[in-house]
Amino acid sequence: HVVVVGSFNVDHVWNCRSLPRRGETLAGRYHTGPGGKGFNQAVAAARAGASTAFLCALGNDDGGRQARTLAESDGIALRVHDSAHATGTAGIYVDEAGNNTIVIGAGANADLGAAWVGRQAPVLAGARLLLAQLESPLDAVLEAMRLARAGGTMTMLNPAPANAECLRELLAAADILTPNETEFTALLECHTSHRVDSDALVATSDAQLHRLCRTLLPRGSVVVTLGAAGAFVSHREDLTRGDAEAFYRVPADRVEPVDTTGAGDAFNGALAASYAAAPERAFALHVRFANRYAAQSTQHVGAASGMPHLAVEIS
Ligand code: ADP
Repeated sequence: HVVVVGSFNVDHVWNCRSLPRRGETLAGRYHTGPGGKGFNQAVAAARAGASTAFLCALGNDDGGRQARTLAESDGIALRVHDSAHATGTAGIYVDEAGNNTIVIGAGANADLGAAWVGRQAPVLAGARLLLAQLESPLDAVLEAMRLARAGGTMTMLNPAPANAECLRELLAAADILTPNETEFTALLECHTSHRVDSDALVATSDAQLHRLCRTLLPRGSVVVTLGAAGAFVSHREDLTRGDAEAFYRVPADRVEPVDTTGAGDAFNGALAASYAAAPERAFALHVRFANRYAAQSTQHVGAASGMPHLAVEIS
């Protein structure tokens, strides 16, 4: 099975004509729903067919109860650290072009501790794959990755949101790293002497991208998501995970996106589910499935609630 460690947020979303400027008061269409990178990815993994456990921290409030109800309806096994703080929240403004600004109130998510994670060792060691992000305290994420790896569980790190901190220990504990373009360039700035404009990545040669990935994660695989351009994959030369090439691109499905919020989360959950279902298959097939799943997720509004029901097919 797949185990996800991460955040749960209640998203409060306002669709406005433009993003509010300083001192400005705007009217917008409001909706609320479940979110948080951890929860979004757990829902994606579950709806892609994986038996999924989710480790998180929740408050004793409506948000916490909502998380429990939603997890149950998707068949996700919850492991909750009960926090005295309010369940996490996110305030999101989206303009007509789909641009957004987001403020996160970490609340309970900030209470996810390494000691509590340590007590979940059997769950972490018993999984096929652990998927983690950076919306939780980094020491808790690191503890989860170390315990997973010690138990022979594959570790996948989605280094999101982009974080100014260097993640040396976390990267060393990751078997698979899945940054988007912004996160990839942020990591390169911190960990190498390379300066790459994230807008220029699509035009960067594959051989050069591969070299950059190798510097970042010499021993593991890197999957850089490139939005509508799909994904770039780079493996260690002698550890190609069943692929014919050490590096290659996988194009995205062509779709007219309705809402790309959570596309990265959809990709990560689906990649985890596909890999966990059949790790012996060529890795490129898992990436192709993740692209297809993420493209479909852009056809629905909402973060966790917009995740499609599209199960991995194993032939
Ligand atoms: P994030 O949501 O973290 O910014 P990306 O924008 O790289 O991540 O998108 C993640 C994945 O979602 C892509 O690799 C692709 O599979 C899919 N995706 C995103 N935008 C589109 C799009 N416009 N058309 C098709 N697929 C898309």
